[in-house]
Amino acid sequence: GDFAKEVDTLVIGSGPGGYVAAIRAAQLGQKVTIVEKGEMGGVCLNVGCIPSKALIAAGHRYHNAKHSEDMGIIAEQVSINFDKVQEWKASVVKKLTGGVEGLLKGNKVEIVRGEAYFASENSVRIMDENSAQTYNFKNCIIATGSTPIEIPAFKYTDRVINSTGALALKEVPKKMVVIGGGYIGIELAGAYSNMGTEVVVLEGSKQILGGFEAQMAKLVERRLKKNGVEFKMEAMAKGVEESDSGVKVTAEIKGKEEVFEADYCLVTVGRRPNTDEIGLEQIGVELTDRGVVKIDKQCRTSVSNIFAIGDIVAGPPLAHKASYEGKIAAEAIAGEKSEIDYLAIPAVVFSDPELASVGYTEAEAKDAGFDVIASKFPFAANGRALSLNETDGFMKLVTRKDDGLVIGAQIAGPNASDMIAELGLAIETGMTAEDIALTIHAHPSLGEITMEAAEVALGSPIHIV
Ligand code: FAD
Repeated sequence: GDFAKEVDTLVIGSGPGGYVAAIRAAQLGQKVTIVEKGEMGGVCLNVGCIPSKALIAAGHRYHNAKHSEDMGIIAEQVSINFDKVQEWKASVVKKLTGGVEGLLKGNKVEIVRGEAYFASENSVRIMDENSAQTYNFKNCIIATGSTPIEIPAFKYTDRVINSTGALALKEVPKKMVVIGGGYIGIELAGAYSNMGTEVVVLEGSKQILGGFEAQMAKLVERRLKKNGVEFKMEAMAKGVEESDSGVKVTAEIKGKEEVFEADYCLVTVGRRPNTDEIGLEQIGVELTDRGVVKIDKQCRTSVSNIFAIGDIVAGPPLAHKASYEGKIAAEAIAGEKSEIDYLAIPAVVFSDPELASVGYTEAEAKDAGFDVIASKFPFAANGRALSLNETDGFMKLVTRKDDGLVIGAQIAGPNASDMIAELGLAIETGMTAEDIALTIHAHPSLGEITMEAAEVALGSPIHIV
């Protein structure tokens, strides 16, 4: 037997949920250990947000170099050295994962490599290849994240790949079939399409990017189509045949069978929580039938000293949501009154154009019984957007009629991912459309669109009639 180690707070998983929770717990005076069985930084840093944005950026550079004739830029013989792209991407990932490790150490968090398994409500066994160690804890924060769903007819191979495989390709595919038009599928379809891949997207419903308003999703669809991406809606992927050089994907589209040949078949049909192999059932942590951990407003599970955050709990599976919950769980352990409030959590798609949404959409606000004004302002009426040659898109501001309170915003357009922050702040701090309209925004900037959308809500826009 081994001697058990004693800690205040044990964090399982070092993704954006776990590492942030560990740092906040340490800041609050707890003795913290974080355990990671894979790479530091979790999905987000290694095979999620960061490497995908790196590939998207590389795709943009290439595409823009080739397609800026209308600005008078003629670039000949532009080419991609994909090995170099992958090397660069890996270097970005390495900087960040190293940074996370440094931050944890700087906050005196002990890092343990291995796989954690619950032995009791107050202890885990941590196993690596050749040893096992028991840790006793007062409190535990579980942040084990999620894994791509595998559909039985599409077992993952070298050519039938999930998002992790798609981020690690050694070549730019000539042809790729993407099953699933959610944000991960659409972002990767866009990145590879910009690098020259012929992409077909098979989507089961009538709209890609299901969580977003149809008008926003349509803008992305239109831009991808312009780039040569083919869309098959209401398509049921049936099966795949594989050869040494490619795949044949069979799908039923509106009752008719069709076959698509490609180099790779990327399956992005959702993710499932990693809650089945850590011994949760033994210690009585309650899950839903889909394996999602049930928590209260402080991220506490049905076992009072065990907390759960990130992709294993309900809500949008996003990195910033995991980090937000991580802080709340650590603060709850410290006896603080912090509680989750998801209203101002933004959702972003790094598509062309980018999509972003925070708070209520117009339809959601109406469903919730609010009498609202939805005010819109187009990017095409903004000087900065014109001078960037990026005029696709609009901002929509959702404000309450009676008091002008900003309760939601949607943006489709360049830099929507950054612009949404101002609207998140407005919602979080209880600002009105008038507050935004009175805020001086620099000219020329995309931020002026926010000011103008607020002016539209007030009935007094300057740059639109
Ligand atoms: P994870 O990041 O999944 O980390 C969990 C960690 O726990 C892993 O490192 C795992 O090895 C470890 N672990 C699991 N079980 C054990 C165990 N028993 N013992 C020890 N360690 C264990 N989100 C965004 O907000 N923006 C984006 O742009 C974005 N892009 C994405 C692109 C792709 C391709 C993908 C796949 C995801 C993307 N996401 C994005 C989602 C984001 O990555 C996740 O929401 C986020 O990583 C969840 O964080 P987490 O801390 O819950 O878990």
